[in-house]
Amino acid sequence: MIAELSRNRQVKDYLCSFFSIEENELIYAREHSLEAGLKAIAVPSNVGKMLYLLCRLQNPKKILEIGTLGGYSTLWLAKGMHPEGRLITLEREEKHIQIAREHFERAGFENRIELRQGEAEGLLKQMVAENEPPFDLIFIDADKENYPVYLDLTLALSRPGTLILSDNLIPKRGEILEPDPRDTEAVSIYDFNARMAAHPRLESMLFPTIVGENGRVDALGVALVHS
Ligand code: SAH
Ligand code: MG
Repeated sequence: MIAELSRNRQVKDYLCSFFSIEENELIYAREHSLEAGLKAIAVPSNVGKMLYLLCRLQNPKKILEIGTLGGYSTLWLAKGMHPEGRLITLEREEKHIQIAREHFERAGFENRIELRQGEAEGLLKQMVAENEPPFDLIFIDADKENYPVYLDLTLALSRPGTLILSDNLIPKRGEILEPDPRDTEAVSIYDFNARMAAHPRLESMLFPTIVGENGRVDALGVALVHS
């Protein structure tokens, strides 16, 4: 197990140093988020680059992100969107919003990224109620317990062809598919995965990722809405 993890960490370092070179504003957003006391739970650069590339392939004019933190993943997505693209990101913590706003300004994205403060579920329901036109790409990365709720609400904000990405789909703890029933995050993630895999409107796969200091295997969900 230890040997496996250390090899995983080497693979992660290799991917990061060869393939996901960060521009200055991304380095700043990552480092300053930590200095400002935010938790080290942003996507690593290897996953940021996957988000960016998936975005380039989709060429979205309209992106929705759930869970901003310091805006590190937001910036990878924003860099990959259509030149006239706009992004809405949802976050409940005022402190995170203020830090993220500074990062968006530094990167020159302040007019193309809109921060909305509040509980994501309520904000999403409001968008559905107001007939918000569908998004081209959606990235789910907030509280894991609510992922199943976010799946239904993001589908209501999708069109055929929308790409729904979701982070952290392999729970940290427990045997695969056999989480401790008290581990509500893990239970929700397996529920989300099962529903995504079987959903009649989605074609989906989990793209394994290597994350964290120790090279843990996680996954990024990639789901294409087809009807
Ligand atoms: N996407 C970021 C990391 C997000 S961490 C990145 O990779 O760079 C998850 C964020 O979601 C945290 O900032 C947390 O405050 C926010 N969050 C958690 N639950 C939420 C909820 N119910 N509504 C809105 N935001 C929430
Ligand atoms: Mg995440």
